[in-house]
Amino acid sequence: MEHYQKCVAKGGWSKGIWFSEATPKFVFIVWLAMHNRLATGDRVLKWNPQAITTCWLCKVEDETRDHLFFYCLYSREVWKGVTGNMAGNGGCSWSQVTQVVVNGLQERVATFLLRYGFQAVIYGLWQERNVRRVGESSQPANCLTTLMDKLVRNRITSLRKKNDRKYERIMEVWMGRS
Ligand SMILES: [Zn+2]
Repeated sequence: MEHYQKCVAKGGWSKGIWFSEATPKFVFIVWLAMHNRLATGDRVLKWNPQAITTCWLCKVEDETRDHLFFYCLYSREVWKGVTGNMAGNGGCSWSQVTQVVVNGLQERVATFLLRYGFQAVIYGLWQERNVRRVGESSQPANCLTTLMDKLVRNRITSLRKKNDRKYERIMEVWMGRS
């Protein structure tokens, strides 16, 4: 993990990705996505001409990193459903979203929630995509949204043990997003 933290720290965007309350397994997937190293259809095609390149989530478009996050209608529904308008109206492209996530928001608490929500959504979508790829059951976007929301709330609850007042403010902001 130490080596990995160093790798993350090299990027200019590291502060938006590696923070003390982050969940390592989420960070790992986000780090790969940031470097466009996830095995998306377009990349697998380079060494496997037989690869299925259609997006597993919408089954319409070709799968690329930027399609998955968040041009894909399925992904966009989950992203919007989980984070509401926290990221503002700057659009849903990978570069637009990551810019807001890395730059952060005015309030520290909101910044943490946006960053944590972003990581949870990336992780959740990638998991869902992998589950579908091996032929296991799929879940509709609204179910995944509920699941991701629960992940964020669980993380907030786990922070309560450290600081009650901060916890209340974080939960207030999370519940207040629309
Ligand atoms: Zn799609």
